[in-house]
Amino acid sequence: MSATISNPIPALKLPPERIHRLEGYGMRSAADGYLFRPTNVAEIRQILNLAQETHRKVVLRGAGRSYGDANVGSECIIVDISRMNRILNWDAKTGLIDCEAGVTIEGLWRTTMEDGFWPPVVSGTMFPTLGGALGMNIHGKNSFKVGTLGDQVVELDVLFPNGELQTLSPSDDLFYQVISSAGLLGIITRAKLQMKRVHSGDVKVLAVSCDDWQQQFDCFEKYEHDADYMVSWIDCFGRGKANGRGQIHVAWYGNEAYDIPPTLKPESQDLPDTILGLVPKSVVWRFLKILNNRPGMRFVNYAKHNASKILGNHKEIQQSLVGFSFLLDYVPNWRNAYLPGGFIQYQSFVPREHAKAVFSKQIQMQQDAKLQAFLGVFKLHKPDKFMFSHAVNGYSLALDFKVTKRNWPRLQKLCHEMNEVVLQAGGRFYFAKDSTLRPSDVRSYLGDDTLKTFKELKARFDPEGLLTSNLAKRLELI
Ligand SMILES: Cc1cc2nc3c(=O)[nH]c(=O)nc-3n(C[C@H](O)[C@H](O)[C@H](O)COP(=O)(O)OP(=O)(O)OC[C@H]3O[C@@H](n4cnc5c(N)ncnc54)[C@H](O)[C@@H]3O)c2cc1C
Repeated sequence: MSATISNPIPALKLPPERIHRLEGYGMRSAADGYLFRPTNVAEIRQILNLAQETHRKVVLRGAGRSYGDANVGSECIIVDISRMNRILNWDAKTGLIDCEAGVTIEGLWRTTMEDGFWPPVVSGTMFPTLGGALGMNIHGKNSFKVGTLGDQVVELDVLFPNGELQTLSPSDDLFYQVISSAGLLGIITRAKLQMKRVHSGDVKVLAVSCDDWQQQFDCFEKYEHDADYMVSWIDCFGRGKANGRGQIHVAWYGNEAYDIPPTLKPESQDLPDTILGLVPKSVVWRFLKILNNRPGMRFVNYAKHNASKILGNHKEIQQSLVGFSFLLDYVPNWRNAYLPGGFIQYQSFVPREHAKAVFSKQIQMQQDAKLQAFLGVFKLHKPDKFMFSHAVNGYSLALDFKVTKRNWPRLQKLCHEMNEVVLQAGGRFYFAKDSTLRPSDVRSYLGDDTLKTFKELKARFDPEGLLTSNLAKRLELI
C-alpha cells in the first residue's frame, strides 16, 4: 500500500514508487518508508551511501515479525534483508550451517532436517529471518536449557554504517553487543550456527493441567532438569484461587530406531491445510474474529481449561517438531482477528524468587482494569551476556492484548503500572514484543552503564546515526 510523505526535498533522489506502508506484526505501529530489498553486501553499501546523500535514516527489517515498532521507521529508508536468503554451506557431519542473514527459521529446518538436525532455538513462528532473530536475540521453549539464539552462533559478519565489515565470534565483546542491539549498531549479513542433532522428527509431549500459579511453578521445577522444552498457556480470566490456571506442555526429543527416521522427511513435518480434516485453515481467522472480544475469549479460555483438565491432563502424545514448535503458524493470518485496532504483546521477564507474586499481580491488575489478555504464555529462562538482553534466571509471561481506539489509553496505563511491578522485582523487557515501554523504564532495567556502552559503540560504528527505528526514537535509545 503506498502513501504520501511530507518532506519533499531529500525525497527528490528517492523514487516515490519505493514508498510502502510497513507495520509491526501487531498491526498497531505502521509507518511509511522507502523500501529497498538488497541481495548482497555491495547493494547494502550502496543503500547506506544513498541514505547519507539524501539525509535519510535507515531501518533494518527482516520478516517483520516483531510485534511493535522495532522494524518500522517514519520516512526512513527500510533495508529489508529477506532476499539475502542463500545457504552458503551446510555440513551434515558437524551440524554447522553458514547462511546469509535473510534465511528464515523455516529455511534452516527444511535444509537440515533430513540429515537429522533441527534449529537449536526457534520462536513460536518459523518465518523470522536469522538477521531479525539475532537483532532481537530470540528465545524458544527451551530457553531454560540452552539460552538464546545468540548462544548458538559461532560466527557472524556485520556491516557497520562506518563502512567496516567485520567477522565476529563469541570471543569478541562486539559479538555480544551486535546480537540483541535491535538493528541499531550494524547489519548482520551472514551467520554460522550450530544446529541441534535429533534422532526423530517427533517430540514426546506431556500435557499437565494446572489450577493455579503454585501448580504451574511446581510443574516447571519438577521437569526443568530433564525436559527439552517447556511452555505453558495461561487463562488470564482465571480469578481468585484460579489465578494462574492453564496447561503446561513438557516435551522431549524423540528417538527412533531407524537409520533414517521417516519423521525426518520435510514432508512429514508440513502443517496440514485443514483443521480436523475439514475446515480450510485460511478461513479460520474469520471464526476467531467472532469470538475475539472479552466475553468470547473468557468462554474460549474457560472451555480450553476445562477440556485440558478433563480430557488432556497427564496425557502423552507424539507431535512433529514443526507442529509442536510453531503452533501459531497453524492458522494463517490469525492476527487479522484483531482488526481493525490490532494488538500488542506485553512480555515481562522476572527473577525466579519474585515471579509468582509479579505474575499473579499482573493478572489481577488486568482483571481490575477489565482488560484481560486474550492469550497468556509462560516460559522459563536462563540469563545471557548480550547487551540488550531480556533474559533472566526466571520466568516470563507474554500477554496478547487486543487494541481498540477506546481502550488504548487505558491499556497503556495498565502496561505502565505493570512495568512498575516488574521493575521493582528486578525484571526485564524485550524489544521484539514491546509497544508501550517508556525511556525511564528502559534506563531502569538496562542500567546507565549499558546505555553508555551502547552510545559509545554507536558513535564509533555509526557516527552519523544512520540506523534507527520508531522503537529507538520512542525509547530515546538514539
Ligand atoms: C507468532 C509469533 C511468535 C513469536 N514467538 C517468539 C518466541 O517464541 N520467542 C521470541 O524470542 N520471539 C518470538 N517472536 C518474535 C520474533 O521472533 C522476533 O521479533 C524476531 O526478531 C522477528 O524476526 P524478523 O526477521 O521478523 O525481524 P524484524 O521483526 O523484521 O526485525 C527485528 C529486529 O531486528 C533488526 N534487524 C532486522 N534485520 C537485521 C539484520 N540483518 N541485522 C541486524 N539487525 C536486523 C530490526 O531492525 C529489528 O530491530 C514471535 C513473533 C511472532 C509473530
